[in-house]
Formats: sequence, structure tokens, C-alpha cells
Amino acid sequence: MIEPFSFHGRDFYLLRDDLLGDFNGNKARKLEYFLNADLSGFKRIVSHGSSQSNAMYSLSLFAKIKNLEFCYVVSHLNSNLKQNPVGNFKFALENGMKIFVVEDRVKFAKELADTADALFINEGVAQNEAEYGFKTQADEILTWSEKSGVSPDIFLPSGTGTSATYLAKHIDLNVFTCPCVGDAKYLREEIAALDEHSRVKILTPPKKYHFGDLKLELYEIWQELKASGVEFELIYDPVGFITMFANLKEFKNEILYIHQGGLLGNISQKMRYERKFKNHFKKDQG
Ligand SMILES: *Cc1c(COP(=O)(O)O)cnc(C)c1O
Repeated sequence: MIEPFSFHGRDFYLLRDDLLGDFNGNKARKLEYFLNADLSGFKRIVSHGSSQSNAMYSLSLFAKIKNLEFCYVVSHLNSNLKQNPVGNFKFALENGMKIFVVEDRVKFAKELADTADALFINEGVAQNEAEYGFKTQADEILTWSEKSGVSPDIFLPSGTGTSATYLAKHIDLNVFTCPCVGDAKYLREEIAALDEHSRVKILTPPKKYHFGDLKLELYEIWQELKASGVEFELIYDPVGFITMFANLKEFKNEILYIHQGGLLGNISQKMRYERKFKNHFKKDQG
């Protein structure tokens, strides 16, 4: 679904992949191939990453839908989260996720998956099979584009760059992104590894942010967006909007921003902000 949206005096369009259903966002796009595949030869899915990742939650739901066991390996699990599960972690446990805490999580996950009946999924579902769902996404955008007569420049914030790379591969429109993990150079390398001729254009955030950084300006733009009527994700989207607005001169057409879901992750990220900026927030409430 694509709808008009207005923010900071600028009109653009939103692709609402957060509204695809229970299984939504770019992780649902990435898993579309596996959703349609015959996985009857598998008993379990094995993956690894951080204890609050959106991919972890999506995989837990995917495994539940497919009636598979889901094993997930993290390097660390803080005792707070272990005792009081919240956000993605809580909901993934409710979906039956089995959690393993092993320092060298990549090695352990690969060993755990080293049986014929286990399907190994990379951190963030960054892998070739993800391409399939972005062809579907590209087709949806092109159908809308023909109907509406709008040929937009597309913007989406990146982690691994998988979503941006595969969308750009299947659509003849400009695709812009920005790094939320690492810097522009790192993202360029990640994208080139997936598609060496990729036409994705990388915009640099106005200042360096670390992944999951707790910065007031990020929280504030997220709150302003929410007040405009749409809740966005609290890690990637604030960096995305700040970077997009800092680089508006790069866009030659109307802008289509992709809402990539991930809202369950907001519960824990919001708690981190509230803990860090307790006094600031108190003052705000007056
Ligand atoms: C996972 C995720 C991303 C990053 O996607 P990549 O394909 O790894 O670049 C961006 N936004 C949200 C909301 C996500 O959950």
C-alpha cells in the first residue's frame, strides 16, 4: 500500500510494508522465498545476531508459521532482559524460540545447523534468497507508478543493505539509502558483495551514528513523525529521515519512503531512551 505523507513541510509517499500483516516489514519480504518454499525436509531454523533484532522476531514467527523449531544464538544476553523479557525478545520467546548464549555465535550457529534437517539463515537474513521478495516489492511499486503517473526516487535506510540492493536490481527508478550500521564505505562494500553493478545511491548521515545510538535528535524526529500520524521504527528510520532531509538536493523527483516495519522493536528501544534521558523527559512533561 502506498499513501501520501507530509512531514516538515514536504510531501512525499510512503510504502507501508509495516502493514503487510502479522508477518510484515522488510524481514517478511526477505523471507518470502522461504515462505513459498517446500521446507518439509527441515526440522529447524538456526540463526544468530543480537538479542533485540527485528530479524530474530520475524524468524520466530516464520518458524511458527512453518511449524519448525527456531534456534537462535546470541553472544551476550544481559541479565535484565533474561529476567524481564521485553520487545522482540519477549515475543520471539512466546513464539517458541530456543535461545543459546555463546560468545562465538557465528561458529556455534553454523555447527548447530550442520545437520541435514536444519536451515541456516544469516544474520539479518542477508542472503541471495532474499532477492525474491524484493522483486515482488518492485512490481508493486511499478504497478502503483503506472496507475498514478508518479515516477518517484525511492529512499530506505539500510542495515546490511540487502533490501536496498535487491529492490534496486529489479526497478528502473533511483534508489537511495543511508548506513545505520557502520559508515558509507562499509555499506558500499556490503552492497557490492550482493550485486557488484548495483546502482544504489548512498547518502551520508549529517553526523556519525553508531547502530542503536541513543541521541535526542533521533528520538525527537521519531516523536514528530508519530505526531504526524505514522509510527516508524526507532533505530533505522530516525537516521533515515535525518539523512534524507539533509540531502534533499540529491532528489530530482518526488520521494517514496519505504516503511520497513520493525515496530515491536520500539518497545525496548524506547525503554533505553527513557532510562538514559529520564530527567530530560520529566522536564518535557512539565
Ligand atoms: C532490518 C531492518 C532494516 C535494515 O534492512 P537491511 O536489508 O539489512 O538493510 C531497516 N529498517 C528496519 C525497520 C529493519 O527492521
